[in-house]
Parts: sequence; C-alpha cells; structure tokens
Amino acid sequence: MSKFVMKSAQEMLRQLLKTAGPYAKWALAARKKYINLRLGQDQEVRRIYIRAADKVAREIRRLKRQGYGNRMNIRYMTALELSLRQNSIVESLKGIVSGSIEKAVEAGTSYSYGVTLSQISRTKLAKEPIQRAFFRANTQAVEACWARTQGGLHLSDRLWRHSEKARTAMTEIIQDAVATGEDPVETARALEKYVRRGKKTLAYEYPEMMERMGSRIPQDVSYEALRLVRTETAAAYGEGTIVAASVTPSYIGMKWVLSNYSNPCHICKGFAEADHGLGKGIYPPGGEPPMPAHPNCMCTLVSVHEDTDAFIDRLNAWMKNPASQPDLEKWYQDVYSNVA
Ligand SMILES: [Zn+2]
Repeated sequence: MSKFVMKSAQEMLRQLLKTAGPYAKWALAARKKYINLRLGQDQEVRRIYIRAADKVAREIRRLKRQGYGNRMNIRYMTALELSLRQNSIVESLKGIVSGSIEKAVEAGTSYSYGVTLSQISRTKLAKEPIQRAFFRANTQAVEACWARTQGGLHLSDRLWRHSEKARTAMTEIIQDAVATGEDPVETARALEKYVRRGKKTLAYEYPEMMERMGSRIPQDVSYEALRLVRTETAAAYGEGTIVAASVTPSYIGMKWVLSNYSNPCHICKGFAEADHGLGKGIYPPGGEPPMPAHPNCMCTLVSVHEDTDAFIDRLNAWMKNPASQPDLEKWYQDVYSNVA
C-alpha cells in the first residue's frame, strides 16, 4: 500500500470513529467486515472466468488429439459449441453475488444492531424483539438488492449478460482461429491468456488477431464482472446500513464518509459536503443517498445517533409514561412489538 493510500485510509477511519462516537467499536467492526469481503472478490471472480476458458481450452486440445486436424476448422467450432453454451459462469457469478449481498447486508446492519442492543441493555426492555426486528431488516435489505434495477435490468439479468459476454468473447476467438486455420494449441493458449490477463496481452502476442476482432471482445471480461460484484456489494452494505438505521430509535441522520479525503471525486465530494441542517454530509432519515456513488467507490455511510445519555433518559421517561415520548412509543408499536 502506498503512503498516500495509507494516509487516506487512516483519515477515513478517523472520520468514521468521530461520527460513531461512543459506538466506534461497532462502526469499526462493520467497516472491517465490509473491507474483508471486498478484498477477496477479484480473485474469486477471475477464477470463474479462468475455469470456464480452461474448460474450453482443454476441449480443444482433446479434439486435436482425437484427430480433428492440426488447423482449426469448422468441425472444431461445431464440437465446441456445446461446451461454450454449457459454461457455468452465470451460476458461479450468482453464487458470489448472492453470498456477497448477504454478508454485506449483515455487515451494514451490524452497526445499528450493536448500537441498539447496547442502549437496550441499559433498560429493562427485553432484547429478543430487537433481534427479531434486525433479522427482518436483514431480509428486507437482501430482497431490495435483488429487486434493484439498473438500466431497466434486474441483477439476475445483468449477471446473465456478463456471462453471455464471456461466451461471445470466447466464441469470437475460436471463430477467428477457424477463419485463419490457426494451430489449435495456439487457440487454446489464447483463450487461457485472455481470461487471465485481458486483451492487452493478447494484442501483444497476437497483434493480427486482435486487430481483426477490434472492439468485439471486451478488454478484460472478468474485470467487468468484478465491477458489477463490487457495485452490488457496496449497494448491499448501503442498503443494510439504511434499513437497519431506520429501525433504530436513536437514529437521527446518515453521514457520507469519504474514502479519499485529500482528493475525492466531485460526486463523492458533493455528497460529503451537502448540508441538510444536520451537519456537513448528514442526510435526514428517509433521504439517505444510495451507495455507491460510482463504480469502485469506497466511501461509506455511517448512521448518526442521539447523544447516548440523553437518549437513555428519554427511554426511561417513556417507560414511565409512554405518551411523554411519542417517537419512542411509535417505534415501540411499529418496530419493537411487531411480531410478524
Ligand atoms: Zn467515493
């Protein structure tokens, strides 16, 4: 990690801790869960594409051994069509995205859950209804993630598109090899290299082939899928954070915390500097900005809560006389007592 990145990360943590105040422990734990989740994703996603391409490459070598010819031809194409169609990319991507959404939502909700439990533990209220409310929030957030559309497409449609892109790219490479009568071993190698290192490597080693294919194959098909996985993970973390905050009685606003304080992009800077009368970058409940602001954005949302002692005093006052704290009474009826 460069010094610059380190400094930026430290500044972000400082802002996070400042915003969370007495609840810093839970804010840090949530951020850590989220970061750990994001860290493994590039390898995981690339492995899916490598597996798919390697399978086709193996098939090509096998066909050559079986006497399909020393030059790629239409018989190869016909034989390969089935394994190209049977690629498991979409199922594997779905597996990663679905696991990531669940874990990111859990990480996002964990902060407000920690906050609420710590507050409740200072009163005579039972904890069990709180667990139930947060379990509901989790389920609701996961469902919202799958229901989200982008460019009119649901997540499952977008996953399918990414899998199709890979199939098309592999088909293009094979078709080109057939057209030029390439040595099948070379074609197998080109497929293996494409998914590992992208089009740039191929352009260097197979300049003519790349010139012929031009923009018909993506620069790096697995990177495009990774970007989608990252976006969905960030969105799930944001969704979890917002839904959980909305069932937390001390919730007063949502703060946008920049991942890169010294040099934020203009979109994130706009979010972090917006003034809604609650302090810089703090949004009222119900008016929270969606995460992420753009692909690969590492900024985060952290909920802001009422001063702890004042809030506990209000809780105790409400327990003596429910009518004295209408907002808490409403929370008790709608969230705490909701057994559905
Ligand atoms: Zn950002």
